[in-house]
Parts: sequence; C-alpha cells; structure tokens
Amino acid sequence: MVTQSPQLIPEVEIMLRPLKVFDGVPYVSFTKEEIERSAQPFKFSLVMKFMRQRPSLDIIRAFIRSRWGLDSKPVVSAMLKARSVFVRFSNELDFIKAFSRETCDVEGVSYHIFQWYPEFDEENESPLVPIWITLPGLPPNFYHESFLRNITMPLGQYILQDNSTRCATRTDGARVCIKMDASKNPLDSFWIGIPHQATSRLQEVVYETLPTYCYRCRMQGHNVSTCKWEGGMKTEERYQGEGGREKKVWVRKEARKSAGHREQDRAEISKRVEVVDLEEGLLNKNDDIGEETGE
Ligand SMILES: [Zn+2]
Repeated sequence: MVTQSPQLIPEVEIMLRPLKVFDGVPYVSFTKEEIERSAQPFKFSLVMKFMRQRPSLDIIRAFIRSRWGLDSKPVVSAMLKARSVFVRFSNELDFIKAFSRETCDVEGVSYHIFQWYPEFDEENESPLVPIWITLPGLPPNFYHESFLRNITMPLGQYILQDNSTRCATRTDGARVCIKMDASKNPLDSFWIGIPHQATSRLQEVVYETLPTYCYRCRMQGHNVSTCKWEGGMKTEERYQGEGGREKKVWVRKEARKSAGHREQDRAEISKRVEVVDLEEGLLNKNDDIGEETGE
C-alpha cells in the first residue's frame, strides 16, 4: 500500500497582534471572521466516534478506501479521545457520501458520525445527525434537488437524495437524507402549500433511523427518559417527582418500514427504549485505547 506524503494545509494568514490582558490575565483572541477563514481547509470534515475500542487508523483508512466509493482519499487522523477519528475530505461530494452512509461501522465496530466545525467539542456531542427519510406519495415532479431542498426545510437540512429518487425510477415517494436536530421532536407531517387548502398537500414523513440523543449528557445513544447516569446518580432517582421534561423515544430502527406500519413502529419503539444501552456512557474510559499507527 502506497502512503501519500502528507499535504500541507493551505496557509491562512492573519496579523500578529499585541497580547491582551483581562483582569491581569493575559489572553489571545480572534474575530469570528478569522476563525471562519482558519476553518476553510476543514470545511469538509467529519468526526467518527466509535462505540467501543476503535480499529486502528490504518484499518479505518483501508476500509474507507475500499468501501466508501470516494473520489479522493481523505485524511484520517487521531483525536484527543481515543475512540474518535477526524476525517478530512478534499471535496463536498465525498463529504456528503461519507456523512449520509446508511451503515455506520468499520470492521463491525459501529460509530456515530458528526460534522466537524470550529466549536466542535469532543465531550458534548452535537444533536445534529444525518437521517434517511421517506416522503410517501410525494409526486415525482418534486424530485428535483432544488425542490427537495425546499421541501425538507421544515425537517432539517437537505444532504442527499437516493438514486431511485434522483432518476425517478421509484415514484411512490422520495427518499432523502437530511441533517436533523435529534434533540427535537420529529415532525410527523407538514404542509406543502397553504395549510388546509384544497390544493395543498399534507405530506407525511417516515423516518428510517431515529437516533437517540440525551440533552442532559449531551450524548447520542440514549435519551433523557432512559438516561441512567448523571454524576454517578441515577436519573430516575434525581428527577423523581419532578414534572419531568418531555420524553423522547428516538431509537435507531433496524430497517425501513412502510408508512402503513407506523403505529406498530411506535409500539416497537417504546418497547425498545427499555433496552437502549449505555455503551457510550460516561464511565469506562479505561478501555478507550485506540491504536495510533500510520503517518
Ligand atoms: Zn443521558
């Protein structure tokens, strides 16, 4: 396997400024614009956070090369947390392909994927997640990308449509990947056209994967109603008697279901909430030894 020599990131230049002091404490600071410029070379970057000890960087690189069908080779590098890796793509298309992947595992080790941005915090996971949805019965004249971008705006941010939608070879509904806020209640339906007008359409939404997000722990993988740990105390104990915040039942569903089975799905979801595991919990950091190999 030939390893390409590392490329320098494009230099972003700013002025050298005098050191500042606040309350006797020296500090440096940058403008929002400077930070935006500094992040330009990383604008197509993702963080993969593995659910358990991750494969080595070399294995991840080889897996991406052989399985992800990208146009060019991304840069895969370690992060402070041993289970996380930083993946920098050279173009938007590769970035989109990687972000919208439907199976999220490398050699059987599953991961959560996050878009990287300058304020990305390894401790506090972002609730923004890629989710595949179907819009049942959406007429095929709406399958143009620019229409789908608009149509999915009540739900999140459009990322990608699947091939059969793009080519309109499947016309019972559009299938689209969007970036959604998993900490919010998902919309069941929304209006295309002025609500309740005869010419308007109430569009149903079917979510294929519903990830869990706990806004107490700021973690994916479980939600507030199944959150067991907070500062070593079980949440049920701590919040007993409190009116409680709204309960969410966002769990990953195994397979795509047709719209007709939604009630059944909901029943399944509420059953499965009980078994959501906490493998991404706050405890076992000791086994968190990723192997750093490669460049
Ligand atoms: Zn939690």
